[in-house]
Amino acid sequence: MIFLISGPSGIGKNSVIKELQKDKKLNISLSVSYTTRDKRFNEINGKDYYFVNKNEFLEKIKKNEFLEYAQFVDNYYGTCKKEIERIINLNKNVLLEIETVGANNIFKQFLNNKQKIVSIFIVPIKIEDLKKRLENRNTNSKEDIKKRFDLSLKEIEERKKFDYIVCNDKLENAIFLIKKILNYEISLKN
Ligand code: 5GP
Repeated sequence: MIFLISGPSGIGKNSVIKELQKDKKLNISLSVSYTTRDKRFNEINGKDYYFVNKNEFLEKIKKNEFLEYAQFVDNYYGTCKKEIERIINLNKNVLLEIETVGANNIFKQFLNNKQKIVSIFIVPIKIEDLKKRLENRNTNSKEDIKKRFDLSLKEIEERKKFDYIVCNDKLENAIFLIKKILNYEISLKN
C-alpha cells in the first residue's frame, strides 16, 4: 500500500514518521526524497534525504526519474520512481512525506490506478503553534520561517483533498490516531 502524509512545515511530520517506521506491524518504509536544500545538522544523507545540487536535480527531471517533484520555498523536492520500486520489492508498505503540490500531482496520477493511495493531512490546533514550532526547532533562518509559515496557510486550504485530517494537538495523540488509520486501512486490504 502507499500512504501519503502531508501537512504544513513544522507540524511534526518527521516525528510522526519516525514512530510509524519503528512499528514493525505496519511494515512501512519511508520513501527517501531528493532535495536541493542544505542538509541540517541532525540529518543524514540517504536516510532523511538524498541531498543533491540543483543541476543534479534538474538532470533527474530531464531523465524522467521522478514520480513527482515540486518547488517548496527556495528548493526542489522529489520522489524518485526507483525508490518506490525498491520499497515495493522489499514487500513493504510505502510512506510518502510530501507537500501539497506534490500530493496533488500524485492524486492525479493515481486517479484511475488500481493501486490506492491513502492520504493523511496533519493540521495544527492553532495556526500560531506552527510559527512557534518552526522557531523552536532552530534549524531555519528567520526569512525561511516566514516563507514556510506564509505557505502553510495555503497548504492548509488543501486539507479536504486528503482522505483523513488529523489534528496534532499533542504529538502522542497524532501518532496514536495515524497508527490507527494505517492499521485500519491495512486490515481492509488483507
Ligand atoms: P523540509 O525542508 O522541511 O524537509 O521539507 C519541506 C517540505 O517538502 C515538507 O512539506 C516536506 O513534506 C516536503 N517534501 C519532502 N520530500 C518531498 C518530495 O519528495 N516531494 C515533494 N513534493 N515534497 C516533499
